[in-house]
Amino acid sequence: MVKAAVLFAPNQPLGIEDIEMDEPQANEVVIKTSASGVCHSDLHFMEGKYPFPVPGVLGHESSGVVEKVGSAVTKVKVGDRVVVAFVTSCGACDNCVTGKPYLCRNSGALGRRGRISYKGQPMIQFANMSAFAEKQLVHENACVHIPDGVPMEVAALVGCSVMTGVGAVSNTAKIPVGSTVAVIGAGGVGLNIIQGAKLAGASRIIAVDLLENKLAAAREFGATDVVDASTGDAVQQVTNMTGGGVDFAFEAIGLAKTAEQCWGMIRPGGKAVVVGMVPFGQTVNVPGHDFVLAEKSILGSFYGSTRQQYDMPWLMELYRQKRLKIDELITRRYKLDQINEAYDALKNGEVNRSVIVF
Ligand SMILES: [Zn+2]
Ligand SMILES: [Zn+2]
Repeated sequence: MVKAAVLFAPNQPLGIEDIEMDEPQANEVVIKTSASGVCHSDLHFMEGKYPFPVPGVLGHESSGVVEKVGSAVTKVKVGDRVVVAFVTSCGACDNCVTGKPYLCRNSGALGRRGRISYKGQPMIQFANMSAFAEKQLVHENACVHIPDGVPMEVAALVGCSVMTGVGAVSNTAKIPVGSTVAVIGAGGVGLNIIQGAKLAGASRIIAVDLLENKLAAAREFGATDVVDASTGDAVQQVTNMTGGGVDFAFEAIGLAKTAEQCWGMIRPGGKAVVVGMVPFGQTVNVPGHDFVLAEKSILGSFYGSTRQQYDMPWLMELYRQKRLKIDELITRRYKLDQINEAYDALKNGEVNRSVIVF
């Protein structure tokens, strides 16, 4: 039996329950969870904005220690400390071999359906992991080794928010030194976009948010300017500040409206980068003439376009060199049975990032 936070229906508190977990098959490992981040993406599923079958166990930003390995596992051994990446890539499909393992076509096939269950009812593991649980049964390809000197809570955040934010800048947008940047939403992912832009040498980084505490955090993470969107039209403010718009605008909330605002904030030749999860079924509207007459473009960014086995190690190295702030992202720590409290704090905008510590 494994203790887990179970989603039984959208918009209801998660229940702390015992679930059953199978023994690892050939290429699978059992991870004893050390830390699991409280990410906004799970909330989309908890609120029914994205579909997920219930009962189900969410959680996709985690680290842990390898406890058991399947017969054919070669990449990790019992006792290894690992980040669990939420995409399991096969290494052989067209996307994997062309440098896009985050879009692996076999990720679903490698997903473990029915390997965990609740009262005998099989469940699908969210993001191939279901990290709001004491243990996780995952494919060995999802595991990234954690170097010495990186705490487990820090490593957990590398598994989603740090990778997603910094990677959106370095991998998806590939911003040149000197770029001007706007970031809408200064939460867990937005702060990482901000520090990623700083690392990449952006000349101006304008953080846009509605909350004063978020804007203060944005400054700490490297924003050169802040815009309080509650005081007036954010697009107009950013356009005025930059004499016509920024080179790159990042959406880090997950709303169609703010994705459209990103488009409005970029100068001719600029790029709007959508990182937040716009709710399922919603459409982003942008004026069509801008594509050609202003050569504007819009990019989607999933998981910071991660090549996890390559990117996560350098992110952790930058943390070790104190060039990436991750300790500072962790505002609060909770136990698994306090997970609903942790999500209330997230909804109220009280935290940069909370971590469930096991
Ligand atoms: Zn996440
Ligand atoms: Zn693949």
